[in-house]
Amino acid sequence: MMKDNYAISRGRMVSTQIINRGISDERVLEAMRKVPRHRFVEEAILHQAYNDHPLPIGEKQTISQPFIVAFMTQSLELTGEEKVLEIGTGSGYQAAILAELAYSVYSIERKSVLAKMAKDVLQSLNYYNVYIKIGDGTHGWRSEAPFDCIIVTAASPDVPLALKEQLKDGGRLVIPVGDQCNQKLMKITKKGRNYKVEELLMCRFVPLIGKYGFQDER
Ligand code: SAM
Repeated sequence: MMKDNYAISRGRMVSTQIINRGISDERVLEAMRKVPRHRFVEEAILHQAYNDHPLPIGEKQTISQPFIVAFMTQSLELTGEEKVLEIGTGSGYQAAILAELAYSVYSIERKSVLAKMAKDVLQSLNYYNVYIKIGDGTHGWRSEAPFDCIIVTAASPDVPLALKEQLKDGGRLVIPVGDQCNQKLMKITKKGRNYKVEELLMCRFVPLIGKYGFQDER
């Protein structure tokens, strides 16, 4: 009964918050209908799991708004074959969506408590193509590079060079760039030795803290 209630909430979330705002990639919509977002939030706020906003996940961090997850995912243009790098595992929800749509997902989280919780929930949901490590994601994941796609789910003052370098030719990087209050979501596509840069939308993320990000949390 509980399960059905959540499926209905997920369907409503997809039609009202995501399709209504222009997301049209059927594979992304299907993943958003499938992944049980309520499993990635704390018990006390379960009833808010499918609401149209970010939610706290502990350690002063958040699980992103469903629309932003869908928008960033669609921007990566996944077909199912890709090796994807995510910076900022957080709850593991975005990683689960990516795991539905790509071949493998490598995700880095700097907070060990969050990395452990995400690992546990992803394992309990049988996502065996997600690999999580604890560390500063502003360096990327050199031993696993190159990646078809990189998604950064925290706000960066700039685009870390290591991430650009770890993209395959034709690869896509999506990253919020700006100050700690407001950012522009940027899409960077590697084309040979050049990069095509697009500004997608304004957004607001918690900061990317690291050597090539912000130096400390406010
Ligand atoms: N993608 C997440 C999800 O689906 O729940 C939401 C990510 S939350 C908005 C941003 C995350 O980035 C936080 O968990 C934060 O600890 C992490 N973070 C910040 N700086 C980082 C860094 N340099 N390397 C890795 N993770 C970082």
